[in-house]
Amino acid sequence: MNAIHITRRAVACACACAALALAGNALAANWPDKPITLVVPYSAGGPTDVVARLLAVPMGQSLGQTVIVENTVGAGGTLAPARVARAKADGNTILIHHMGMATAMTLYKKLPYDSLKDFEYIGQVLDVPMTLLSRKDFPANTLPELLDYVKKNPDKVTLANAGTGAVSQLCGMVFAQQSGAKLITVPYKGTGPAMNDLMGGQVDLLCDQTTSTVPVIQDGKRVKVFGVTTPQRLASMPSLPTLDEQGLKGFDVKVWHGMYAPKGTPKDVIDKLNKALNAALKDEMVKKRIAELSADLVSPDKATPEGLRKHLEAEVARWRTVITAAGVSAE
Ligand code: ASP
Repeated sequence: MNAIHITRRAVACACACAALALAGNALAANWPDKPITLVVPYSAGGPTDVVARLLAVPMGQSLGQTVIVENTVGAGGTLAPARVARAKADGNTILIHHMGMATAMTLYKKLPYDSLKDFEYIGQVLDVPMTLLSRKDFPANTLPELLDYVKKNPDKVTLANAGTGAVSQLCGMVFAQQSGAKLITVPYKGTGPAMNDLMGGQVDLLCDQTTSTVPVIQDGKRVKVFGVTTPQRLASMPSLPTLDEQGLKGFDVKVWHGMYAPKGTPKDVIDKLNKALNAALKDEMVKKRIAELSADLVSPDKATPEGLRKHLEAEVARWRTVITAAGVSAE
């Protein structure tokens, strides 16, 4: 009797599972049947937004649907992943984020999502170096002069960032550690508005990705630049020295990005999104713009769900050690 009971239950369960799988397949076969929302954790006009908008059009073209960019800003970039983690797992709401997906796991005691459990991985996107900038009329002109100035003026120089967990905060933290500078941080909802304030002279320093700083540096009129955060110089601006070669030995900050969907999004849908991402990264216009902005394409094995999963896992562990040693945290 018991055995029959168990068998009936097993059959019912198998039927339900098969029905769910069929529903998933049907969804995947018709997908995408409406516009897709690509959620960006920071303000419009900032570097993450620039990358999202660069990819949205070609991704939409290969998917046959519009990809709408939505800026869900605030809390250092943690509101957007929280929104996507709670969204319906149908592939219609996806996320682009940088390494804040890894750092937030240690920085925030009460993070409303788990980067390693609440998402499906679409693929890694781009690696982007950063540059350290100041307002145009800042008293220092070179990195040695800047180091001297911040040392002589503790708690007077302001540094803009996009909140705890933002890479601008991370870069500022490394700069403060290596230079011994005591800076006042000014948080924004993204470095787009921070850059506007830097150009307007309301804030002194900003460290930000080249995807938004290169055009401003090349314009030459509105900011000063002190160096590149990677050990290699930028291909688009080879005359600009690195921070490392000017004395901040070992300064090495490069920003990786990934694309995610809510946990439970059908595999076929993830595959279609991954294909569209890779097609966008191979688009000639996109490749040209990426090169102009000194960003780097990732290798094909990284632009995969598995490549992103492995990288995120390693990065969560790496930043746990670094952040714990630095004693930084957020509420
Ligand atoms: N660059 C930013 C950061 O510091 C965010 C942004 O894209 O606005 O994380």
